[in-house]
Amino acid sequence: MDFEYGPEHEGFRSEFRDWLAANLPPELCLDDPADDRVASDRETFERRRQWQRTMHAAGWVGITWPKEHGGRGAGLIERVIWDEEYAAARAPVLPGAMGLFLIGPTILQWGTAEQKRRHLPAILSGDEIWCQGFSEPGAGSDLASLRTRAVDHGDHFVVNGQKVWTSGAHFAHWIILLARTNPDVPKHQGISCFLVPMDSPGITVRPLVLLTGHRHFNEVFFSDVVVPRAALLGPLDQGWKVSTTTLMHERHSAGARNPIQQVARLVALARTLEVDGRPAWENPVIRQRLAQLAIDCEAMRLTRYRNLTRMIRGEPPGPEGSILKLSGSELGVRIADAAGELLGMHALVNTPTPAVPDAPRWFNRLLAARQYTISAGTSEIQRNILGERVLGLPKG
Ligand SMILES: Cc1cc2nc3c(=O)[nH]c(=O)nc-3n(C[C@H](O)[C@H](O)[C@H](O)COP(=O)(O)OP(=O)(O)OC[C@H]3O[C@@H](n4cnc5c(N)ncnc54)[C@H](O)[C@@H]3O)c2cc1C
Repeated sequence: MDFEYGPEHEGFRSEFRDWLAANLPPELCLDDPADDRVASDRETFERRRQWQRTMHAAGWVGITWPKEHGGRGAGLIERVIWDEEYAAARAPVLPGAMGLFLIGPTILQWGTAEQKRRHLPAILSGDEIWCQGFSEPGAGSDLASLRTRAVDHGDHFVVNGQKVWTSGAHFAHWIILLARTNPDVPKHQGISCFLVPMDSPGITVRPLVLLTGHRHFNEVFFSDVVVPRAALLGPLDQGWKVSTTTLMHERHSAGARNPIQQVARLVALARTLEVDGRPAWENPVIRQRLAQLAIDCEAMRLTRYRNLTRMIRGEPPGPEGSILKLSGSELGVRIADAAGELLGMHALVNTPTPAVPDAPRWFNRLLAARQYTISAGTSEIQRNILGERVLGLPKG
């Protein structure tokens, strides 16, 4: 870590910590917020939205956004402190997270003055909830193969096609949409990006349910949806560049949370469970395995600081973003696997029992951990990026 927290940073930390202690409603707190990123029902969603409004009114939302757009204008160090304190308070993922961390920053970079004025304050306050309409049934890792069409009619476009895995689309008011506007050029050059209201006639949302039973993402269908020209984000046919901005922010957010708390819970579990008539915690193999997980969490924390140091110095992005995404999501799987081996068949218990008093925590972990090795760019794609662009290996 090449920077130290100054008194102003410590002041920021204690101010935020105290404010959270005084204002965060305990019933909103979650031990594993990452397993519940999209609220499980509308009531929970609305309660979290109210929480975002409260945070916004007190100036704790969009802390790195420019002041002229309603943010706090703070730096990256404050953002790290914000993340650390927010996680330590067990606060829920904000319902507007997609807008705050991915789409708002994309509008800041590419939006017209009118788009910024229209959307940015509403994203901060939680009045506009956004979803990300990029992936399609035939276009995920190879996103540029997308086939949803937006046909140019002068003052408007007509959109037809389908998106899939769209997180939170069932609560969203707006979607950032990638669609093909020119099918006659190389695939990366004929894509445009649009800002589209989810209540536009012709949009249908169908839920897809995760293995845990949680309703997280959706299929979204577009049938002759009329989108005004003013909804274009960035230049026509330049949507690939716009989406790169969103994906860069997504990857950064994906590596932001550290799973050390999960390892701590695994240690607590090992102290209560018995193996061969003795507490699992006394078994040297189990201890070693848990110690390795804790070491990996620490390595992640330091890699994140290395990444930030680079950003604060204004240096170009290095390999840390891909390392954090890859190692963070795979560490999550290894933590889940360790829990599965400790608990055996009890790992699949989804209501509290004497053997698993904190169920459904491990049930959720086991079934949900693999999603992170897929979302925001799969592990295989991260390995390709690291191999080809960082290590200079030949393309596979
Ligand atoms: C929980 C979750 C939430 C999501 N939310 C959203 C969302 O809100 N909006 C959105 O637009 N999308 C979302 N996605 C979709 C996500 O971006 C895609 O699932 C991801 O990009 C992978 O694409 P795919 O599912 O089409 O798999 P594919 O790209 O078809 O990949 C299938 C397999 O092939 C491997 N593979 C593919 N290409 C290569 C290659 N070149 N080299 C080596 N291996 C390769 C992949 O690693 C993978 O194992 C979400 C996904 C998940 C799991």
